[in-house]
Amino acid sequence: MGNHKRITRQMGVRALGAFSGGLDSMIAAKVLLDQSIEVEVVSFSSPFFGSDSGRTGAMQLGIPWREIDFSETIMSLLRNPPSGFGNNCNPCIDCHAGMFRKLGETASAEGFDLIFSGEVAGQRPMSQNRGSLNRVARLSGFREILLRPLSAKLLPPTDPEKRGLVDRSRLLRLSGRSRKPQILIAEEHGFQYKAPGGGCLLTDPNYCSRLKMLMEIPGLLTETNARMIRFGRIFRLSKDTIGLVGRSEEDNAKLEELALKGGEITWALPDRPGPTGVLIGNRDNLEKLKSLVAKRVKPCILTLLPKDCKI
Ligand code: SF4
Repeated sequence: MGNHKRITRQMGVRALGAFSGGLDSMIAAKVLLDQSIEVEVVSFSSPFFGSDSGRTGAMQLGIPWREIDFSETIMSLLRNPPSGFGNNCNPCIDCHAGMFRKLGETASAEGFDLIFSGEVAGQRPMSQNRGSLNRVARLSGFREILLRPLSAKLLPPTDPEKRGLVDRSRLLRLSGRSRKPQILIAEEHGFQYKAPGGGCLLTDPNYCSRLKMLMEIPGLLTETNARMIRFGRIFRLSKDTIGLVGRSEEDNAKLEELALKGGEITWALPDRPGPTGVLIGNRDNLEKLKSLVAKRVKPCILTLLPKDCKI
């Protein structure tokens, strides 16, 4: 009878989660679903990470899913990360705090009782040690309602736990870098999930070295440019200019598509197969770019150049 009362009371509790579709976020959602809490989830997208695996994971759990475009926030954090960067170009503490702020604002506007994430205490050296979890919660502005179901028993109780909306005794006490406990839970429930990590370009050393080149030049760190530098060979043409030269058909197609999306100039020299070149920065370096794409220039796309530019 007592148990029945508890379950009935929790039927109306609503939780909104940050959800990558990775192992930890799947289990965090499942832990709450097992308490008959109504769970909805959000996946964030930007030039550096996408929401596809979040959508797939939510479908697997049968829970409502939505995407929030996080591009503007993450671009501004790259320009000025108050808590600094991790090992590469990843401003994880401020990024997490920004995501939870957006989550909290959405939750408040839509009457959710709590927000949650799949963070695990001690899993990542910079962003998920205990001090960082506290800092993220404080910076988000929604500390009181931010629940981490996987490590909750190791953390101070949140408001929803204190109010009995969430049964703390049924939350987990996971910590550290090993994912064995999560893998066991996933196997038990038959979850399909992607290998942990690797979902964010900002943690990729190769991409980060390209991004740093862009960040060093005032005015060049834009969303489109951040997407473009994923493709082709990259050259520092001068102190204020970067050149990209396609290495494959796919590179060429992506570079052309992105340059066009950015409202830039494009044209092709007829019947001459070869790489696509993109100039990001000062048009005075056009000759240098042309010499790179050299004898076999076909399409040449120039960014940040006026419409009347001629090759
Ligand atoms: S890994 Fe990327 S998406 Fe995740 S918190 Fe860090 S910067 Fe943000």
